[in-house]
Amino acid sequence: MERTDTPQPFISKSYWNAHRPHVLVVACSDGRYQKALDDFLQTSLGITDYDRMYVAGGPGALASSSLSFFRGEQFRQDTAFLIDRHGIERVVLIFHGPLLDGGPRDAVCADYDRKMPYASPAEIHAQHQKDLVEVLRGMRRAKSSLSIEVFRAEVRGDHRVQFTPLAEPDDQYGRGIA
Ligand SMILES: [Zn+2]
Repeated sequence: MERTDTPQPFISKSYWNAHRPHVLVVACSDGRYQKALDDFLQTSLGITDYDRMYVAGGPGALASSSLSFFRGEQFRQDTAFLIDRHGIERVVLIFHGPLLDGGPRDAVCADYDRKMPYASPAEIHAQHQKDLVEVLRGMRRAKSSLSIEVFRAEVRGDHRVQFTPLAEPDDQYGRGIA
């Protein structure tokens, strides 16, 4: 006798997009700010379709400050692979944490908290800048023509999330972010 309770597939209203978006967003897995991130990407940057590298720590996972050398190296290789095979031309890097002026302490990125357990939010923000120099260098090594934008999702005291462009790091090669 045929079972009547066979699970049925869900068929999405959205279609497969045969064209690659050529945009890569690197952000933290943290689900607490994802709706704000989606809103920012779509409303502020006009990005609706994009490849995602969502891992704990976001861009920080690609830095040598990552929890282990092997973790950082693995994500660097994976990112270089996406840049190459998916024809990435534009990259958006998103760090996250509390707004220093009144943001909630528990908005600190858990990945940064585990590698810098005694650091203040300000010290973690400073680490973002250090990691950024390295991450940008690695990405440009993978593809020198990349357009790269960098932001930090900052949780305010009222729990709204603001996306602040990060200042150009003091790169010893004197090159800008974009
Ligand atoms: Zn995080």
